[in-house]
Amino acid sequence: MFDLDTIRRDTPGCLDKVFLDSAGSSLPPEPVLTTMIEHLRREADVGGYVAAARQSGALAAVPHSLARVIGAQATDIALTDSATRAWNDFFASVSLGPGDRILISGVEYASNAIAALGRARSTGAHVEIIPSDQYGRIDLDALENMLDDRVRLVSVVHVPTNGGLINPVREVVELARAHGSLVLLDACQSFGQLPIDVTELGIDALSATGRKWLRGPRGTGFLYVRPGLVDALEPAAMDLHGAEWTSENSFVPAPDATRFELWETSVAARLGLGVAADCLLSIGTDTVWAQIESRAVALRQGLASIPGVDVHDRGTQLSGIVSFTVEGISEHLVRDQLAAQNITVTVSGRGSTLLDMDARGLDAVVRASPHYFVDEADLDAFLGAVRRLQTSR
Ligand SMILES: *Cc1c(COP(=O)(O)O)cnc(C)c1O
Repeated sequence: MFDLDTIRRDTPGCLDKVFLDSAGSSLPPEPVLTTMIEHLRREADVGGYVAAARQSGALAAVPHSLARVIGAQATDIALTDSATRAWNDFFASVSLGPGDRILISGVEYASNAIAALGRARSTGAHVEIIPSDQYGRIDLDALENMLDDRVRLVSVVHVPTNGGLINPVREVVELARAHGSLVLLDACQSFGQLPIDVTELGIDALSATGRKWLRGPRGTGFLYVRPGLVDALEPAAMDLHGAEWTSENSFVPAPDATRFELWETSVAARLGLGVAADCLLSIGTDTVWAQIESRAVALRQGLASIPGVDVHDRGTQLSGIVSFTVEGISEHLVRDQLAAQNITVTVSGRGSTLLDMDARGLDAVVRASPHYFVDEADLDAFLGAVRRLQTSR
């Protein structure tokens, strides 16, 4: 059952402010925080190795919890320290040669594009941009025309960092499959927000972070790799956890996705990540999404009714990321004026999603991303503050 009062009491940070930045770095639930602090104390008491051994059960459960959220098996999960690391680790393990093609989407995240361009430079592969349709989504007809057997990988950003768009993942996978191209899903902004079922989507790999919609700790993320595929992939960096050193000149990679993991990690953060996934599972991904969606709809409607405010979200079905600008006031000033009233929003700048921002002639947008712990009074306070920004101009 969804009990907003309990949820808010478990999220002390939301009680004295209007927090609308779960697309940036959300507020963790109290059990996540407690788990992490307790583990740090344990490490200070008995040392990191003994502390980890005492939590071995909880640690082993972390990939199971994450896997449950996306309908995968624990062995398909590699825990990392960020979504970017996960994306890069998978991408780097896909072999590329001269003339190979990598397709990225119009809302590609900067770090993905930078990695793709870097590898294209060193391998002779080409990075090409899939055109967007009239709604800003991946243009499926255009994609179909681009696909051939030289396309090694299609990168799909499920939900971009700068607005409410949701890309049609299933449809992209169907087309890519027909040409033997891999699909890597950047689920950084959809994981913890939208229900995701990797089997239903049919994707080959997925990268996600802990600190955004999952409400987990910073410095956490994970990679999902489709079972059956992992054998063909050699991670660029493997250590004594991801592989076994078997003789003077041989080693054997782990048989599952853990070949992408490194041994050293923040155990406290990893435990916190597992608790965050459990919190999400206890509320239910469908409920979480319904709650987020209703708040985003209310925000967009409210903003659209304010003179001088432009809402920039594109798409046919919209996520919980609400993007807008206020005529005559810079995005940074909007953010700062709201911050002075205890309202947290962020600015998404051109550089994060360069292709999309340039295509729309935008330099920056203000981003409001309400999670399920945001209540109606918060939404009213935010809309009132935006209205006053306008009239005080
Ligand atoms: C935040 C974000 C990332 C990067 O996540 P990190 O955990 O910071 O590495 C990747 N893609 C999208 C769409 C994002 O919004």
